[in-house]
Amino acid sequence: MNIHEYQGKEILKRYGVRIQEGIVAESPEKAVEAAKLIMAQTNSKFVVVKSQIHAGGRGKGQIKGGTQRGVALAKSVDDVRDIAKNLIGNVLVTIQTGPEGKKVNKVLVAQDVYYPGESEVKEMYIGILLDRAKACNVIMASTEGGMDIEEVAEHTPEKIVKEWIDPAVGLQPFQARKIAFGLGMTGEAFKEMVKFVTNLYKAYVETDASMFEINPVLKTSDNKIMAVDAKVNIDDNALYRHADLANYRDVTEEDPLEVEASANDLNYVKLDGNVGCMVNGAGLAMATMDIIKLSGGEPANFLDVGGGANAKTVEAGFRIILKDPNVKAILINIFGGIVRCDRVATGVVEAYKAIGNIPVPIIVRLQGTNAAEGARIIDESGLKVQSAVALSEAAEKVRAVVAAL
Ligand code: GDP
Ligand code: MN
Repeated sequence: MNIHEYQGKEILKRYGVRIQEGIVAESPEKAVEAAKLIMAQTNSKFVVVKSQIHAGGRGKGQIKGGTQRGVALAKSVDDVRDIAKNLIGNVLVTIQTGPEGKKVNKVLVAQDVYYPGESEVKEMYIGILLDRAKACNVIMASTEGGMDIEEVAEHTPEKIVKEWIDPAVGLQPFQARKIAFGLGMTGEAFKEMVKFVTNLYKAYVETDASMFEINPVLKTSDNKIMAVDAKVNIDDNALYRHADLANYRDVTEEDPLEVEASANDLNYVKLDGNVGCMVNGAGLAMATMDIIKLSGGEPANFLDVGGGANAKTVEAGFRIILKDPNVKAILINIFGGIVRCDRVATGVVEAYKAIGNIPVPIIVRLQGTNAAEGARIIDESGLKVQSAVALSEAAEKVRAVVAAL
């Protein structure tokens, strides 16, 4: 689960990681109030106004149909109002959002930490993630912060220092010092950096995060180390033990079909093709997508209805697939192991009737317990649904349907 920058910074602060302080606002008026408060509390002359969307590259991104950048420095309260007006309610396009962009609903008004000027500060990069191959967490740090870390990794990989941490042992003090040293820190900044890395790692582990990316990590002109940005991803499978973090979920940032699917306990991932599919089991779902491709179609989605497919789950699956305007045909591929094929067939027929007239051809392949009975129920339903038992038969029927599109 991705969360917003301001939420990520709330987590960091709880763990004693110094952050660029800010207040989130949902209207230009609230942004102005926030700016006044921050200017008074932190003695800052300026503030930055930062769009809160689930995508990076905001600093270089631009509002659709305008010139406003997604992150901007405000030198007066009037500036804050203007920038917030340009951002809130409008669509921001960045290198990470794709051309359609993302709507900005909130801005973070934060203290200016680049005092007295940009040449006095140093922007660095620190990321923590899981290295599956080494079965370790890895901290990656670079002196080349603020910019695209992918570029650094490609062209100057020697500028990224990596430190692997055995999860059973945890981060050792010498490792935190190694990173601070690798980033060229000395004196007070070195001590600050050791503390920063240590607390950041603790936050990463204790929140069950799968990624923390702080870009830039800033060394201020008075040698403080702080997080100016925070990209945080929490492992969905661990949310059950973090009720407070689960509240950070912002469904307006997610694909609406995927939100509806997860509310129905369906594993759904939207894709760009024209043949929708509904399958039980992730492995069979992957194989089914291959079959669709081999038959000349393109899968419109991945959809795993899980082990206990019944009329209700099938109906929810149908509705979600049909909301995708690109879908021109549907392949249902269910293996009746735990669930019997005749029950699934009845479920398909009931779901079809509940939804009404489905405008696209449907092929239902049922294999396993009571497969023949399932095919009979489909064939005798009188609906525009074709049955199949063998996989090759289903593939042939998909091929015919796709060819006719
Ligand atoms: P991103 O572009 O989505 O990664 O957003 P960031 O939070 O990283 O901010 C983008 C850029 O805004 C940073 O790299 C800085 O150059 C600039 N920026 C952020 N905070 C401040 C600030 O307090 N003062 C100034 N002058 N610039 C800032
Ligand atoms: Mn950033």
